[in-house]
Amino acid sequence: MTDTLPADPDTAADIEAYRRAARAWLDETELPVVPREFEKRAAVLRDWHRRLYDAGWVGIQWPKSVGGQGLTVDHQLAFSLELAHARAPQPVGSIGLEVVGPTILKYGTAQQHDRFIPRLLAGEDVWCQGFSEPDAGSDLASLRTRGVIEGDELVITGHKVWTSWATNADWCAVLVRTGTLESRHRGISYVLVDMRSPGITVNPIAMLNGDAEFNELMFDGVRVPLENVLGEINGGWSLTMDTLGWERAGYAIRRRVENEISFSDMLDTVRSNTTGEPDERLAERIGRLDLELSAFRALSSQTARRLASGDVPSPMDSVDKLVLGRTEQHLAGTALDLLGAYRLAISSRPGGLDAEGISKDYLYGRAASVYGGSAQIQKTLIAERLLGLPKGR
Ligand SMILES: Cc1cc2nc3c(=O)[nH]c(=O)nc-3n(C[C@H](O)[C@H](O)[C@H](O)COP(=O)(O)OP(=O)(O)OC[C@H]3O[C@@H](n4cnc5c(N)ncnc54)[C@H](O)[C@@H]3O)c2cc1C
Repeated sequence: MTDTLPADPDTAADIEAYRRAARAWLDETELPVVPREFEKRAAVLRDWHRRLYDAGWVGIQWPKSVGGQGLTVDHQLAFSLELAHARAPQPVGSIGLEVVGPTILKYGTAQQHDRFIPRLLAGEDVWCQGFSEPDAGSDLASLRTRGVIEGDELVITGHKVWTSWATNADWCAVLVRTGTLESRHRGISYVLVDMRSPGITVNPIAMLNGDAEFNELMFDGVRVPLENVLGEINGGWSLTMDTLGWERAGYAIRRRVENEISFSDMLDTVRSNTTGEPDERLAERIGRLDLELSAFRALSSQTARRLASGDVPSPMDSVDKLVLGRTEQHLAGTALDLLGAYRLAISSRPGGLDAEGISKDYLYGRAASVYGGSAQIQKTLIAERLLGLPKGR
């Protein structure tokens, strides 16, 4: 389960040495125990983020000028793989690091970089993403949360929903309508909002797996300085596409690595529980998963290079998102069937399947074909933008 090393032998040796250094650091580091209760997780993960950052393992491929390590996507992949192998959690600020942060880096002014990025990398500011609304999900360009300019401020009033991690976030990337409703995507601005601003109410929503990971956000006359607008007023749509591209493609790269570790746990469990002939139906599903994961790995090496070269957003983001969603759901479904087949009781990771974790992963996996844009929407984007098929009505 190794990623293909770069062809150039010096670079390959460098990545291998980096991977060994990461493994050594993880081996000698006391890893955090992530509480099962969602509400207790943020504090533990914030502390973990800080420790990773202090040791130089956050912002690996971010430029040194903004506090990153100035290394390559291959270094980042090598570290992600070791982190997943060690069963260590991700840093808390993954929405900032993987989704919103790259858009701030690309479109922000020098002042916005200085103000937001070092704190984002250090885990001092955790970010959330306030795009979706009760009547604007797939059709995001119909969003209604108003942003009215008053002097040097934008006054925001409206209702966002499904905002992941908002209870723990310090900042939110919020899409607001600064033009008319009819202007659709041409009347949207992308604003960076301090979650401690007066007028914001966060109402947690319990998910199918019991965690209250996402939330409803109410904005009641929230005043935000105009200097917090990223890009131009009414020019937020291209930034939105950029953020969604990172969410679809960047997140898929990391989840692929984590899915491979779960698959490896699954194989260990099958090996240690199987006597005689394996169950044919399960064997077939496991074989299919192996193929899916191999294809996913090949796709994600291309994606890593694409993101590193700045080719985002791209219709290929939708392919990444679809492949991630399908693989994740097949993996979680097969793991659940294994629980039944082997009548497994709860066992703790590492080194085996964890019944409670599997049940939660299965339920969370249902969302993989919805968050970041639903599977149906990704298929339409692929048909129209990648294959050049005529637009549907
Ligand atoms: C776990 C999770 C975390 C999330 N986190 C965030 C977050 O942090 N921030 C945020 O802003 N949002 C977040 N979301 C919201 C997510 O982006 C939306 O749920 C998603 O875009 C779909 O929008 P919707 O829920 O309004 O569904 P709808 O758009 O109402 O869609 C309902 C169904 O209709 C289908 N459909 C809609 N339009 C079409 C069409 N034109 N053609 C074919 N089928 C169509 C969809 O595929 C879907 O199956 C999260 C969602 C989940 C599940």
